[in-house]
Amino acid sequence: MISWKLAQKAKGVLEKERGAVQKSWGGKISVCLLYPNSYHVGMSNLGFQTLYQMLNAEEDVVCERAFLPEPEDLHEYYHSQTPLFSLETQKPLSRFDILAFSISFENDFLNVLTLLELAHIPSESRLRDERHPWVIAGGVAVFLNPEPISEFFDLFILGEAEEVMGEFLEVCRQTLSDQEKKRKDNFLRNLGGIEGVYVPKFYRVTYAEDGKIEAMDPEPGFSRKIKRRWVPQLDWFASQSSLFTPDTEFKEMALVEMNRGCPRGCRFCAACFVYHPFRNRSFSFLKSIFKEALLKEHRIGLTGTAVSDHPQLLPLCQDILSQQGEISLSSLRVDAVTPSLVQCLREGKERTVAIAPEAGSERLRKMLKKGYLEEEILESIETLVGNGLSQIKCYFLIGLPSETDEEVKEILLLAKRIRHQILSHQKNQNKKWRLVLSVNPFIPKPTTPFQWAPLEEVGQLKKKLKLIQRGVQGERGVEMIHDLPKWAYLQALLSRGDRRVGKILLAAHHHQGNWGQALRETNINPDFYVYRKRDLDEIFPWDFIDHGIPKERLREEYLTAMRDAGISIKH
Ligand code: SF4
Repeated sequence: MISWKLAQKAKGVLEKERGAVQKSWGGKISVCLLYPNSYHVGMSNLGFQTLYQMLNAEEDVVCERAFLPEPEDLHEYYHSQTPLFSLETQKPLSRFDILAFSISFENDFLNVLTLLELAHIPSESRLRDERHPWVIAGGVAVFLNPEPISEFFDLFILGEAEEVMGEFLEVCRQTLSDQEKKRKDNFLRNLGGIEGVYVPKFYRVTYAEDGKIEAMDPEPGFSRKIKRRWVPQLDWFASQSSLFTPDTEFKEMALVEMNRGCPRGCRFCAACFVYHPFRNRSFSFLKSIFKEALLKEHRIGLTGTAVSDHPQLLPLCQDILSQQGEISLSSLRVDAVTPSLVQCLREGKERTVAIAPEAGSERLRKMLKKGYLEEEILESIETLVGNGLSQIKCYFLIGLPSETDEEVKEILLLAKRIRHQILSHQKNQNKKWRLVLSVNPFIPKPTTPFQWAPLEEVGQLKKKLKLIQRGVQGERGVEMIHDLPKWAYLQALLSRGDRRVGKILLAAHHHQGNWGQALRETNINPDFYVYRKRDLDEIFPWDFIDHGIPKERLREEYLTAMRDAGISIKH
């Protein structure tokens, strides 16, 4: 039975939306797309919306949505024993053929277990059979490293789902109506044959005495390396908002994806490496998308891994303006800030522009391969402020390999110079200005050249954050925001862990998110994954994914970074 209160709330959510798809179920493949976080967060995710649109575009597929309930609704779910249900038709999740999770952030892994529990579906794949829906996942957190959650999923899609979806649905069409083919092992074997599909149960991991991975062996018939799939030509499909609601971060805005990948190769940037190669949507294609999107909302949010690197960014912004549209842009590369672009953004009613110097010192910026000189950063601020944009956000990382306290103070010095620059333009103007420093711990992510480096100790990270916090206190107009170091620790554990980390996740779930208790109970040392500097020849849990960039090349980049930073590494 579904709680009347929860059903009413879901109807209220739907009433506020535009773009939701309601289809009859008869004879169709039913997919519930799940976002393991709140409705607000999930609906702000363009990838999630694109999948919803693409699946529903298939005549024989019905796709509905489910999210992590709000804390106040969780009690009602448990109290009334209501099984988690879909938003569109309020069907219990257990009635769907497929539950497809879209996972962008490792810190949402725990929510996957909550969602399965709420759906009354066993969380471990080995406890489910063909009577249950198939539980699958994709999303960037998955194709960085799916191993910590491999016990909970029947299969993963590694890479851009748009590229795999056709083949995936074809196997489902041939299999789901046939009782014999639908048997769990048969079904997964058929799907596991698709390039980019990873079925963890067909891979065996062995460990050496020191706890490191010794080998990862596939069953006969499965590839040792699985290719991450990517769409060769982005113009083949559009990625733009299809669902509109006031309850998202991007309300009154239509998001449009411009590109994937990035040609810059900053050594810490996972997005650059896992969305490789760099691909742009064409000018004419984007123009037509803008036209469509402006019929739905008056503001266009330009998104992509490297929006500033789109070769026609300025004419595209001008095109939006010529249609009386407004523009929003997540961040600009320091050397992409030009007077004409800034004027365009200002005309497009953009108020805040973000740039990412990443480090206060030139030595560290060089190590990251984001080697802007201080003059270049200040020049970009001059262009922004001089052309009327005086609400600025700057991204910085702390806890970089070999970073000293003096270099952390250099973030403050740079911030003070930026503030000075803004203020020098404020004379005789009564303009509102603001400088936000977004300072976050550096997490060495899989598949980047820094995958060999450890996370800096949480105590040190806290100290460095305090140093900056004290420094900005009393600086009128300057604000600092940051993630908590304890969450960075957890993110490092979940993104760099192997299959054994799944046990910690299960324990944390049983203890309602109490990680301390979970770690004591499982007797697994999390520091092994978080603080340990990895051997140069170590086998990583994610090494079986072929992103198209050889590990040797990443290792060379890492060694060059360390040499640039003056750190010696033993071979
Ligand atoms: S940090 Fe930005 S510029 Fe550098 S590789 Fe990533 S997306 Fe590109």
